[in-house]
Amino acid sequence: MVRAAVLPAVGAPLEIADIDLPDPGPGQIRVRLAAAGVCHSDLSLSDGTMRVPVPAVLGHEGAGTVVAVGEDITHVRPEDGVVLNWAPSCGGCHACSLGEVWLCANALNGAADVYAHRRSDGTDLHPGLNVAAFAEETVVPAGCVLPVPDGVPLTDAALLGCAVLTGYGAVHHSARVRPGETVAVYGVGGVGLAALQAARIAGASRIVAVDVSPAKEELARGAGATDYLVASDNTAREIRALTGKQGVDVAVECVGRAATIRTAWDSTRRGGRTTVVGIGGKDQQVTFNALEIFHWGRTLSGCVYGDSDPARDLPVLAEHVRAGRLDLGALVTERIALEGIPAAFENMLAGKGGRALVVF
Ligand SMILES: [Zn+2]
Ligand SMILES: [Zn+2]
Repeated sequence: MVRAAVLPAVGAPLEIADIDLPDPGPGQIRVRLAAAGVCHSDLSLSDGTMRVPVPAVLGHEGAGTVVAVGEDITHVRPEDGVVLNWAPSCGGCHACSLGEVWLCANALNGAADVYAHRRSDGTDLHPGLNVAAFAEETVVPAGCVLPVPDGVPLTDAALLGCAVLTGYGAVHHSARVRPGETVAVYGVGGVGLAALQAARIAGASRIVAVDVSPAKEELARGAGATDYLVASDNTAREIRALTGKQGVDVAVECVGRAATIRTAWDSTRRGGRTTVVGIGGKDQQVTFNALEIFHWGRTLSGCVYGDSDPARDLPVLAEHVRAGRLDLGALVTERIALEGIPAAFENMLAGKGGRALVVF
């Protein structure tokens, strides 16, 4: 029996419960969690903005230690430190064959037939986003487990699994920020803080952080922001004023709201690039007129998991950590227990803080 935060139904409060995990079968690995980040997607899954079968154990940004492995597992062994990867790629679909593993057609099918997690009454619990990291231990498919690179503390390594792969990848893989370019990052949560640090690593000359809360300025500047703006109707104009009336080369939207996406696009220069990382609902309609699409010559792109290949990118991120360029601890504004997750959701809704990290 292990303790877990269970989502009993969409929109219902999380329950802390004891759950059963069987021994890992073929192709499975059992992991004892060291830490799990509370991501905005967990909130979106719990309130129904994103769909997940219920009851479920959420949590998809975790790291821990291998407890036991199925007989055919060779890439990790018991006692190894590992990062959980919520989007394992199949290697065989069209996206995977093109190297775009973050768009794998089968990424979320991985755990559908595992159902290793059960309530003590025998009811199946769906492992939300494959890895069910809001639990003391979990059992996951082999592709969801990657070794923690040397030199990254296990607790910090949890953040690599979603916030950092996503925020760093948005800047380096999706927007492809070049040295000297100017960047605006909208939304200073866990992903936004990772994007700010990534823009600094990319050599951006000016990094503007935008958030609805004035309280996050210090956090943002610590992550690399050279300028801080409290979001308003004037944000795009203020950003043009900061960049010689042109607008930034790149905007990274980490909020997922129509108005923010529109502002982000408006705040880029002619030919600028906007990468949307935030996940919004179907009610968030963004409109553009045909003439402005032509006139501005801008690009607007979506971005899944930072266009990242975790197996390829984790060693690169670890190198940045070891060199002191990437500060994982700086993303965390709160260390909590499983019981603290509902309050962390409340803080997210209120726009407070960076990443809340469940430490086991
Ligand atoms: Zn996430
Ligand atoms: Zn695939």
